[in-house]
Amino acid sequence: MLSAAFNIVGFSWITSPAATELEVIVLDWFAKMLKLPSQFLSTALGGGVIQGTASEAVLVVLLAARDRALRKHGKTSLDKLVVYASDQTHSALQKACQIAGILPENMRVVMADCDRNYAVAPEAVSKAISTDLPSGLIPFFVCATVGTTSSAAVDPLPELGQIAKAHNMWFHIDAAYAGSSCICPEYQHHLDGVEEADSFNMNAHKWFLTNFDCSLLWVKDRSYLIQSLSTNPEFLKNKASEANSVVDFKDWQIPLGRRFRSLKLWMVMRLYGVENLQSYITKHIDLAKIFEEFVISDSRFEVVTPRNFSLVCFRLLPPPSDEDNGHKLNYDLMDSANSSGKIFISHTVLSGKLVLRFVVGAPLTEEHHIIAAWKLLQDEATKLLGSLSII
Ligand SMILES: *Cc1c(COP(=O)(O)O)cnc(C)c1O
Repeated sequence: MLSAAFNIVGFSWITSPAATELEVIVLDWFAKMLKLPSQFLSTALGGGVIQGTASEAVLVVLLAARDRALRKHGKTSLDKLVVYASDQTHSALQKACQIAGILPENMRVVMADCDRNYAVAPEAVSKAISTDLPSGLIPFFVCATVGTTSSAAVDPLPELGQIAKAHNMWFHIDAAYAGSSCICPEYQHHLDGVEEADSFNMNAHKWFLTNFDCSLLWVKDRSYLIQSLSTNPEFLKNKASEANSVVDFKDWQIPLGRRFRSLKLWMVMRLYGVENLQSYITKHIDLAKIFEEFVISDSRFEVVTPRNFSLVCFRLLPPPSDEDNGHKLNYDLMDSANSSGKIFISHTVLSGKLVLRFVVGAPLTEEHHIIAAWKLLQDEATKLLGSLSII
């Protein structure tokens, strides 16, 4: 209600100096909380901007990277530009490529490594690049994920960063979900290697107590975004912009108009403070650890990939006679758990296995909820396995 009351349309600095100034300040605070290298701060050449979603964030940096590559290699080289990411990368990247005019056949999907908990192996990315180079293709963008959607895997940032540097590619890190945990000293190491990145994104609207939409994007060199996205029509000209002394966020994003989203993020940071935010995150991860222990302690189940952050990937082990390797069994378990209306879990497929996903992320979740959820899953499993043994 408060932020709606500030119904500003802050596309240029002049239309609402407070909205722009607060966004600059809050994103610098946040960058410091994440211990991002100082180049990502507004006081250096970089800076942060609030986008609507992670999808918009990856699109704007892809456009900046594309135009940087086209300036270097000539405008006619668009159909030579190649993007690299793993098969666990969010589909937002594919959509961004479609919009940015990257040829569909120039999106290299490198299979993630099941022995690395579905993170990508840097050697596989290097190999894909060296296969492309002889045919005159131009590798220009590599996207790493911290906390993949299926299994919360963390791609090896330092190695991917080195590869990107060696080939003059833009290096983007998508930490939409897991980035929030990196404000905690014990999980900060997941960002080791971020110093090699050109851009870093995380969603405050996922696991940071902030209402949708609020996706935070930092770049190391803002001039690339501005070169790709700025326009300067007569009706927007004003002294402040012309003096080049202010930030006009319209040049860092796709739309012109923008809301006062920093206000709600500022509110969250003021209300909780860094220590409370850290313990909010660690509490969720500790609750997920409890759930993981429950799964381990029941031999009818398995934890499919080691837990990362607050996501547990698990499944009910199928009896040896099971023909589809537990696919239907686990689908039925998910269905019956969700139909109870008491919990909601989701699924994915990893190496052909149907995997169930249990994540802790709601502010009011307590240990007794985890215990009740596990009991419900156990009871449903007993029913399902019982009906199997009757057949
Ligand atoms: C949720 C998520 C996205 C997409 O987020 P939007 O903000 O809805 O675009 C992208 N990448 C990862 C890793 C995610 O977890």
